[in-house]
Amino acid sequence: MPWPDILTLYPLAFVFIALLLGLLVGSFLNVVTWRLPKMLAREWRLQAHEILGLPGETPQPTYNLLLPHSQCPHCGHRIRAWENIPLLSYVGLRGRCSSCATPIGRRYPLTELVCGLLSAFIAWHFGFGWQAVLVLVLSWGLLAMSLIDAEHQLLPDVLVLPLLWLGLIVNSFELFVPLHEALWGAVAGYLALWAVFWLFKLITGKDGMGHGDFKLLALLGAWGGWQILPLTLLLSSLVGAVVGVILLKLRDARHSTPLPFGPYLAIAGWIALLWGGQITDFYWQFVGLK
Ligand SMILES: [Zn+2]
Repeated sequence: MPWPDILTLYPLAFVFIALLLGLLVGSFLNVVTWRLPKMLAREWRLQAHEILGLPGETPQPTYNLLLPHSQCPHCGHRIRAWENIPLLSYVGLRGRCSSCATPIGRRYPLTELVCGLLSAFIAWHFGFGWQAVLVLVLSWGLLAMSLIDAEHQLLPDVLVLPLLWLGLIVNSFELFVPLHEALWGAVAGYLALWAVFWLFKLITGKDGMGHGDFKLLALLGAWGGWQILPLTLLLSSLVGAVVGVILLKLRDARHSTPLPFGPYLAIAGWIALLWGGQITDFYWQFVGLK
């Protein structure tokens, strides 16, 4: 029997494969979220040097997603293959570097676990097929963006723009919504936050959000169509307000500290893509209009 048939017949096999794949991808996302902001900062420094006509930067060793090999940031011990197995290595090493015993950040196994569970859930929700495969790709991208934005207040174009195009491409096959709804979703998503940004700037003279947020909402509109935009904005503001209040209390942060909006948009858009129809139906029933 060809393997797509097996995965269709045995949904749990697909869920299990998605879980394993998600753990591996989570491990790779750890590399992406750690290295990509550094790679971008390096590139921008070089460009700034060139534009300003400053003396050339001293050439720096290769640094990309694959090289140099992963090493302990404390002692430089090179991470061997068996120390790089998602979750298991962390447990096996009891959360410490095998060479200098410096604790390994909990975010690494946590990212792997979240990515694995998220992937398993998507496989279970959609069942085997193109929708599941593409939502997996989208979700991994959104997870990487959210982690980078939360830490660096940065939504890298190299992640956002390809996924925006991919949303339009998959919907040219009507995978989630017809292409014209996806197209207007992207346009309206960008313009909605662009308008909010300028309104806020005209009134307060401050930047309320980054341009990356406009592109992220355009991306979500490209996948789920213009229909998911109102719910996405509503949910992201709700989640953002709740988490923002908690963080302010915890951190005693100054009010001017920018809270990145990207992760909330990503979570809200993802929920709206999966359950948007049910949530709005429920709402209309709730207010008695349906
Ligand atoms: Zn070490």
